[in-house]
Amino acid sequence: MKIDTRNKELTYPSLTIHLPHLRNNVHVIRELCESRGIQITAITKVFEGDPMIARVLVEEGMTMLGDSRVDNLEHMADIKAEKWLIRPPMLSEVARLVKYGDASLNSELAVIEAIAAECEKQGRRHKIILMADLGDIREGFVDYDEMVEVAKKVAAMPQVELYGIGVNLTCFSFVQYDTEKLTELVQLKKRVEEATGVKLQVVSGGNSATLDLMLRGGIPEGVNNLRLGESVLIGKERTHYSYLPGTYRDVFTLHAEIVELKEKPSLPWGGIGVNSYGVKPTFVDRGPKRMKAICALGRQDFDPDIATPCDPGIILLGASSDHLMLDVTDSEKTYKVGDCIDLELGYFAMLRAFTSEYVRKEYLVEE
Ligand SMILES: *Cc1c(COP(=O)(O)O)cnc(C)c1O
Repeated sequence: MKIDTRNKELTYPSLTIHLPHLRNNVHVIRELCESRGIQITAITKVFEGDPMIARVLVEEGMTMLGDSRVDNLEHMADIKAEKWLIRPPMLSEVARLVKYGDASLNSELAVIEAIAAECEKQGRRHKIILMADLGDIREGFVDYDEMVEVAKKVAAMPQVELYGIGVNLTCFSFVQYDTEKLTELVQLKKRVEEATGVKLQVVSGGNSATLDLMLRGGIPEGVNNLRLGESVLIGKERTHYSYLPGTYRDVFTLHAEIVELKEKPSLPWGGIGVNSYGVKPTFVDRGPKRMKAICALGRQDFDPDIATPCDPGIILLGASSDHLMLDVTDSEKTYKVGDCIDLELGYFAMLRAFTSEYVRKEYLVEE
């Protein structure tokens, strides 16, 4: 095992990034998609566009990378790939978008006009993907006539290219992808092509929640792209929240150090008030004598609601901003103060671990 640490001091909390397992996952998902005629735009937002990780994606054949923040696109400035901004751009970031990005998902004409003007200024070109809202009530045109009208205007702008259309679901309302909705997207593609005379390169049919539909053969002809984050990284599809066969789920593991270990009751004592969310907490009675560990890790660094201790004998009780409370009574291992607890992370837990400046990142580069 070879480990590459950026800051040499071995401090906790730390996040281990298993690059060989990541490489495997990208390979597996790529084969699944390419054999069905689907190109992947690999989404980098969960790891802040960290170039050590983005490089592995590119080495495994990802030619398009997408992120929701221009800052993260900037982190990948030296990585050779087509870079997409996958959140509607802010007017105030258009100059940096044109500098660091090659394409963006758009739903506002005013922003596209600003992008075109900025391209003129920088002598750059930019590809525009128009988003349709097919029911999730997040980004995109709900008035498809308006979308076609905007497409005509974009097609007439010399500085930008009308590159494609796309849809995003299951991110706000958790509306599911189905063949009907994606057929609607393909029909929209035809309408846009007829109205503009432009052949669209990209029809982007969704995120990791589209994979299940793809595996069931439910993606209609004409959809040729998916924007995949979670599945490419940790092999998780989002319809059943299951792990795809042949993928590793331990690409990202968070380590926290035990700072207190004592036998304590499972129930608190005293009058109980509300927590920081205004909710009165509840507790499970597991008896008066439980072995409780506190780790130096908190909500600043991860999300306790979507993290699981790797030791199946440990119960995650909860966390405050800087303390993680665990019940280690039923573990087969005997822990002591200074020991390390490993956690498997779900999406928002990964996002926070990467974002927290208190979490040291460590890259496992070889098995
Ligand atoms: C985050 C995001 C994705 C990737 O989602 P995953 O579920 O991680 O695959 C795709 N498209 C858009 C617009 C996003 O914001």
